[in-house]
Amino acid sequence: MSFIEQDKENIAPLYGKADVEFVKGEGSYLFDVKGDKYLDFVAGIAVNALGHQNAGIKAAIVEQLNHFNHISNLYPNYPQIELAKKLREVTKFDKVFFCNSGTEANEGAIKMARKFFNRKGEVNRQKIVTFVNSFHGRTYAALSATGQPALREGFGNMPGDFVHVGWNDAAALKAEVNKDTCAIMLESLAAEGGVMTLSAEMVATINSLQKECGCLVIVDEVQAGTGRLGTFLGFEKYGLNPDLVTMAKGIGGGLPLGVVLMREAIAAQLKAGDHGTTFGGNPIACAAGLAVVNQVTADGFLANVEARSAQLKAGLSALMAKFSFLKEVRGEGLILGVAVDEKVPVNNIIAAARAEKLMVLSAKGNVLRMLPPLTVSAAECDDALAKLEKALTAI
Ligand SMILES: *Cc1c(COP(=O)(O)O)cnc(C)c1O
Repeated sequence: MSFIEQDKENIAPLYGKADVEFVKGEGSYLFDVKGDKYLDFVAGIAVNALGHQNAGIKAAIVEQLNHFNHISNLYPNYPQIELAKKLREVTKFDKVFFCNSGTEANEGAIKMARKFFNRKGEVNRQKIVTFVNSFHGRTYAALSATGQPALREGFGNMPGDFVHVGWNDAAALKAEVNKDTCAIMLESLAAEGGVMTLSAEMVATINSLQKECGCLVIVDEVQAGTGRLGTFLGFEKYGLNPDLVTMAKGIGGGLPLGVVLMREAIAAQLKAGDHGTTFGGNPIACAAGLAVVNQVTADGFLANVEARSAQLKAGLSALMAKFSFLKEVRGEGLILGVAVDEKVPVNNIIAAARAEKLMVLSAKGNVLRMLPPLTVSAAECDDALAKLEKALTAI
């Protein structure tokens, strides 16, 4: 039986999966059972920031395996402390909370934002304003925050006081935010929602509302963080000043790791027992995370992200000039998208690219999305563009 047949028989049917049989990864490539080599511009959905089998991550994991896998959050955990120190040094945030995933980081940030105002006696500050087509995760509060009603369909009552306004609709945001607002919550780049960047007007509006209304700003860096936009955190590119930041995906080097970064004012309102997690900040995941942050912040690393981004944008723009059904090149750093005319379903392009041994994915609104590892080389980007051109010709 093929992998896809065995998957159908054994795994809950929650994903539409591709019929591929991957058994090994190396750098920017995946290999299937037949030994065929695929260029991996999905990177485990932005998780494999340093590609497959990164030597530094491997060494850090093996080293930690020789100490312990887990001790719980009842005791200080040395790999957590080391990673938190490094994150504080790099990001200038004051305190760190570790968990296991993006949705869990967002749940934590939402709880901390509401608890912050509650402890200060501002009990009415509960409203959280997020954006249409945003994606913040699949657990209930993160799903309430997510601006995609279809994902909530049939799941019953959602946590309340979440409001969604249009992406880059500064007037709608101004109308919604007031002295009762707990937080504005947004991705620094809306990736799943269609690879949409923030306008300068929106950034200025968020910054002024934060000051005028005293609400918190939560930036979800789950996909855009860990160097993917060419800065360590995506919001640095746009000039936001968040009070809380969430990370996951790329930070764990392929292991499950979520992070909430917070300002001291928020940490000061938290007490032991307010929130928790058994596995959060797992020592092996944190050891891998430190190896990731050390490499992403090393000299020249982010310059490669910017250079490859410029190369891919230029190549995609050239393809757009050749293929009339490609409408717009979008994105920043190594979250890149191409909006495709509705008459060509993006899934057809993804399948054609796979036939050319290039793995890519989609985003909402018939958008082709590319998330190469941040370590991708110039030659690999040229190869990806050549493979994509063949795929576009074939469909
Ligand atoms: C993937 C993603 C999440 C959810 O992360 P999980 O680890 O799947 O829970 C949240 N926010 C953004 C921006 C994401 O891309």
